[in-house]
Parts: sequence; C-alpha cells; structure tokens
Amino acid sequence: MEYEVLAYYYFGTIEDPDLEVKNHKEFFKTQDVKGRIYISNKGINGQMSASPESSNAYQAWLHTRYPEIEFKIHHHTEHAFAKMTVKHRTLVAMGEEAEAQDGGDHVSPEQWAQMIENKDDDTIIVDVRNRYEWEVGHFEGAELPDLDTFREFPEYARNLKSERDPSKTKVMMYCTGGIRCELYSALMKKEGFENVFQLQGGVIKYGQKQGAKHWRGKLFVFDDRLVTPISEDNTETISHCHFCDTPTDTYYNCANMDCNELFLACKQCVSTHKGCCQSSCESAPNVRPFQETDNPKPFRKLRK
Ligand SMILES: [Zn+2]
Ligand SMILES: [Zn+2]
Repeated sequence: MEYEVLAYYYFGTIEDPDLEVKNHKEFFKTQDVKGRIYISNKGINGQMSASPESSNAYQAWLHTRYPEIEFKIHHHTEHAFAKMTVKHRTLVAMGEEAEAQDGGDHVSPEQWAQMIENKDDDTIIVDVRNRYEWEVGHFEGAELPDLDTFREFPEYARNLKSERDPSKTKVMMYCTGGIRCELYSALMKKEGFENVFQLQGGVIKYGQKQGAKHWRGKLFVFDDRLVTPISEDNTETISHCHFCDTPTDTYYNCANMDCNELFLACKQCVSTHKGCCQSSCESAPNVRPFQETDNPKPFRKLRK
C-alpha cells in the first residue's frame, strides 16, 4: 500500500484555534490519516501520512479556506505516524517571540543551488536544525550553530555579529520543511543582519526540485522513517556507527527506556549491544527486548 507523507504550514490569523482543531478532528473521522498537527491563533503546522484518497481530500478541504498552503509530499509504504494528534499549541517552540512576516527573503530551490555555487566569503549557510539532524545530512559548506537548545539562537546571532559585519554578510538559512526558518530568520534580522535568505519549502522541497545537488548525506525527519533520502539520486551516507565508526545513517532509540537516547549504529553493533546506546544501559532495570529490523522506528514512551 502506498501512503503520502505531507509536510505543510500556514502563517496567518486563525480566529478560533479550538474550533479549527474540532473541525479537523471531525473531518478526519472518515479519513485514513495519522500525524501531528498543531494549530494556534498564528497558523497551522502539520505533518501527517495519508492514503492517496485521504491526502487529496484533506488538501482540497484545507485549500478551500487556506489556498496558499503548499503541501510537500513524500511517498512511503506505510503510515509514518502511530496515531493522529491535532492540538491547540504553539507552532514552533521558541525562546523569544518572532513573527513570520519579519522573516528573511524566500529563495526557491533553483536560486538556492545558484547561491551555493556563487557563495563568497561574505556568505554563510546556517543550518537551523539540531545536531542529530545535521549529523546524517546537510548542505555542503553549511555551518551548524553550536547550541544545546534553540533557545540559545539569539545569543548565537549576537556572537556572529561580533565576527561578521551584519550589513555585509549574506545569511542563507535552511531547515527541514521551511517553518523553523520563517521564525528564526526573523530573529536573525532582529539582531541586525540585513541580508537574510530562507530556503522556501526547506530541504524537502529542495530535494524534489534539485535532487541531491550540493546536499551531503540524507534527511532526518520527525516520523517513523527517522532518516530518508531527499530524492531518488540521494544515496550518500556521511554519518558513522557510534560504536565502530563504520558508515551508517540508521538511528535507534536506546532500548533502555529510562535512557531512550537517539544514536547511530550499524546492524552488527546494535545487535551486540541489544539495542542499547552503551554497555551500562544493557543492565538497566527497564530495557525492552531487542528486535532486529532494517527500519527501526522511534520509540514512544509507554503511557502508564
Ligand atoms: Zn558498528
Ligand atoms: Zn542508553
């Protein structure tokens, strides 16, 4: 069975987020869909998988009210989420307020590829994602802000200002589907950077339009796939097994449920360590039995 994995967002006023949540739940009653959708008075942030019929029906349904929404679609052999969650919640967790309307200039995948090709010393490419996402794939020449959490991003921008002239520096920003850049590019501008660009539609859309050109490795995604190619020509593995250093881009959640750490491992090492991230986790009190699989899924904490 073929499923579609949809990523999309909308920035604009939602007068009654609770009603929108209710309408979504009502609509989904008769649809084959699973995913995670956050709705606030500032917009919608959605990721979901659906049968092709339900995908079409949902897109049409949402487009009647929000015609500007751009759906980025991957194909997958099964649902990419365990259940459907629709919640009234902040779209992107941030340490500081930012508005999408104050964000950087949108750049198409074609323009983005050209900007990478013409990149000079006054240009930096900033990866607006976490280290575990960066590790399995990123744009060539990009840099990853050294942050523990994205709450530290404004501080990163301020430090950058002491190293680079904010009026001359061209800042190219990208993330998975584009939503994080909408807000973090606004923060970058707020800190005084005048030339800020964001990759429209993120890496997902880039892969569909430009293939793996200038992209190294694969793409981390926040669903059951964990890591996916961005295009058919994307076969490169740049990351390594955390135990033996052989190339792999397979992530596991540690089988010690009190640890749950996400780590990269080759098939052999993960089996030797029974799905655990380190030896001490193997003898912990709450370890799930290890099952060998080619496609490990993210582990969701059991509800008590
Ligand atoms: Zn290994
Ligand atoms: Zn562990």
